[in-house]
Amino acid sequence: MNRPQRGTASAQPAMPVVAFLGLGAIGTPMARHLAEPEFSLRVWNRTTAKAAAFASKHKATHAATPREAATGADFIVTCLSTSSDVESILDGPTGIEAGLSSGAVFIDCTSGDPAASRRIAARLAAKGVAFLDAPVSGGVAGAEIGTLTVMVGGGAAELERATPVLDAFGEKIVHCGPIGAGHALKSINQAMLAVHIWSLGEGLVALARAGVKPALALEVINASSGRSNTSQNLFPQRVLSRAFPRTFRLALLDKDVGIAARTLREQKVPAPLIQLAAELMSLAHRELGEDADHVETVKVIERMAGEVID
Ligand code: NDP
Repeated sequence: MNRPQRGTASAQPAMPVVAFLGLGAIGTPMARHLAEPEFSLRVWNRTTAKAAAFASKHKATHAATPREAATGADFIVTCLSTSSDVESILDGPTGIEAGLSSGAVFIDCTSGDPAASRRIAARLAAKGVAFLDAPVSGGVAGAEIGTLTVMVGGGAAELERATPVLDAFGEKIVHCGPIGAGHALKSINQAMLAVHIWSLGEGLVALARAGVKPALALEVINASSGRSNTSQNLFPQRVLSRAFPRTFRLALLDKDVGIAARTLREQKVPAPLIQLAAELMSLAHRELGEDADHVETVKVIERMAGEVID
């Protein structure tokens, strides 16, 4: 069984103080689930206006600095772009570390880097603070309705303590292994997403040129062994419609696949496909810029082929 038992009510403080740092596209809907009577929520965001707006709409207070958010908190949850961003807000007189209390649990929901997680965990352990890497999947839509999958690396006892917090936005909470295991697993999932997007894009462009309509090709693939979330949901809803909503930035997928490629190199696993996927995501990121959504990668394939999937 992957999921630990919930902690007993008496093992938890009456109203745990939760600090949530990082109100981005997915952090904001995750934090909303913690703005509930059973938690005392503080939010912090680099762009202060977002945290102020959140606190004005929800049961939460707005902290002026990461240190203020972390001071006296039982749980510190981060959801930033990268592990380097998390490390940067630990530092200095206004950083998280200056406010931490021994016995707190630090939950990093960033899709981060396993090696950085181990570094952060060692640093926090010196302060008597436990660390869990807890990246999520399920997208902004899953965050809105609290059905995220949470991939956790770290100790089982710490995970048991953190489960009420993770349960607020997660539906499937899986203990993956030691510190860094959650981030490693998330990065491989993301590499598979990149491969699915790129290979389906190439395939549909070629089929369109061969006279097969993309909608018909997807109908067949989705009833066959090549189907994936990319073919069943992303392409019909976002590519065929040409809607390309911006929910998960390509810049972040590029970062994720880079982590996967690095993880595989560290493990000395020959991985030509994932190394190539990392190069292609990096190329698409350069072509389309910082704000593009990950599914817009298809536009690079279309440009290269001179064919549009619609
Ligand atoms: P966004 O780009 O929407 O938001 C990024 C957040 O990180 C913002 O709050 C931003 O602050 C903050 N931030 C970035 N750099 C720094 C820094 N140096 N110091 C302090 N804060 C910083 O990203 P998402 O919310 O989409 O993603 C957050 C994490 O979750 C990423 O690791 C991503 O890979 C992962 N994820 C995202 C999913 C999605 O569907 N969007 C799905 C699953 C995982 P500011 O507002 O000031 O820019």
